[in-house]
Amino acid sequence: MDRAKLRELQSERLVKIVKYTYDNVQFYRERMDEAGVKPSDIKSIDDISKLPFMQKKDLRDYYPYGTFAAPLKDIVRFHASSGTTGKPIVAGYTQNDLDNWAEGVARCLTAYGATKDDILQVSYGYGLFTGGLGAHDGGQKLGATVLPMSSGNTSKQIMLMKDLGCTGLCCTPSYALFLAESIAEDPDTDIEKDIKLKFGAFGAEPWTENMRKELESKLRIKAYDIYGLTEVSGPGVGGECEYQDGTHLWEDMFYPEIIDPVTLQPVEPGQQGELVFTTLLKEGMPVIRYRTRDLTHLIYDKCRCGRTMVRMGRILGRSDDMMIIRGVNVFPSTIESCILEIPEFNGQYFVTVDRVKNVDTFDIDVELRPEFYTDNMDKMLNLKARLTMRLVSVLGIKPVIHIVEPNTIARSQGKAKHVLDKRQFKNE
Ligand SMILES: [Zn+2]
Repeated sequence: MDRAKLRELQSERLVKIVKYTYDNVQFYRERMDEAGVKPSDIKSIDDISKLPFMQKKDLRDYYPYGTFAAPLKDIVRFHASSGTTGKPIVAGYTQNDLDNWAEGVARCLTAYGATKDDILQVSYGYGLFTGGLGAHDGGQKLGATVLPMSSGNTSKQIMLMKDLGCTGLCCTPSYALFLAESIAEDPDTDIEKDIKLKFGAFGAEPWTENMRKELESKLRIKAYDIYGLTEVSGPGVGGECEYQDGTHLWEDMFYPEIIDPVTLQPVEPGQQGELVFTTLLKEGMPVIRYRTRDLTHLIYDKCRCGRTMVRMGRILGRSDDMMIIRGVNVFPSTIESCILEIPEFNGQYFVTVDRVKNVDTFDIDVELRPEFYTDNMDKMLNLKARLTMRLVSVLGIKPVIHIVEPNTIARSQGKAKHVLDKRQFKNE
C-alpha cells in the first residue's frame, strides 16, 4: 500500500475510533473535554496531536473496566500485564480484536518467511501473558502447525522440537539462549542433524545485536524481533523482515508517533524519542496516544523488502531513566552506545551526577578491557579525549571521564545500575 493511501486509511480509522471512545468511555470523554477537543475536531490523522496522551497510570487508575469501550457481553477474552506490585493492567478483547491481533502476528511470521508448511513451537508462557496465545493464534491464522508448548520443561521442549521437526521457535530471547545452551549440552542431540529450526520470533524483552548473533550461530537460525505490548494488543504490533533492518510496525492498526518525553511535542522525523501508540481498530480496550516509555526512532524510507510500513529502530531504553543535566536530556542508553563505539572499553560504566554551587556535575567512570590496560599516559589521555569528544557531540554537554581498571565497577545481579544522581538526596 502506498503511503498516501495508508494515510487516508489511518485518517478514516482515527476519526472513527475517536468518536467511538468519546461516545462509549467516560475516561476519554473527560480527558477530551478537559483538553477542549471534540470528536468533530479530528478530521484526519494530522489532527492526532490535538488529542491528550494517556499512560500506564490511567489504565491502573481505571482498573479493571474503566477504559473498556465495548460492553462485557462482547468481550471474549482477558489478558493481564505482569506487574510485580499492585493491580495489574487488564486488557479485554472482542472477537474482532483477537482476529486483528492474529493478523498482526501472521504478518510478522510471513515477514520471517514462514508459510503453512512450518511447524511453530510456541514456548512463550500461556496464560494471562499475551505471548503464548498471541503467537499461537497468529500461527494458526497463517495456517502453520502450532505446538502449544508454553515455557519450561526444557528436556521435553528439546524432545518434541526434534521428534516433530519444529521449524520455527517463538519465545523470549533469553529463553531461546537457555534452550540453545541446553541443546549444546545434550549428548543425544546434534544441532545439525536433529534440529530443523529455521527461524525464531523473539520478543517481550529488549535484546541486542550481539544476542542476535549468538542465537543465530548457536541455533543455526535467523533470529527476528517481534514487538508488542499488552496495553496496545500483544506481540505482533510489528516485526522484522528478512533484512533485519528495523521492526516494521503495522501502522494501519497501530499508529505510532515519537515525542519528546519532556515537552511532549512530536520530534522531527527520524529523531529519537518516546514511542506513542493509538490503536486504530481496537474495540475492547482501545488506547489513544498511549505513552509506551520505550525510546526509539522511526524510519519512514521504503525498506529493501518492498514493505512501505514504517520501521522502528531498536528500543534504546525507557524514558523513565532520563536525567536532566545542565538543562539537557540525557539517557543512560545514549552514553552506553557512545562507549560501545570505542573497542578499548568493555561497556561497563557508571554515571555520577551531583550539584555543586548550583551547577550540575557529570562524571562517568568507564572500564577498559584488560588487554588495553596500560600505564602509558599518552594512550590513556588519548582514549579519554576520544570518548569525551564523542559524548559532547552526541549529548551537547561535557562529562568528566574517568578511565578505570578492568573489574572495578560494581556488577549488580539482575538489572544493571548505571547511575547515581546525588541531586535527588539533597534539599534544594
Ligand atoms: Zn522490510
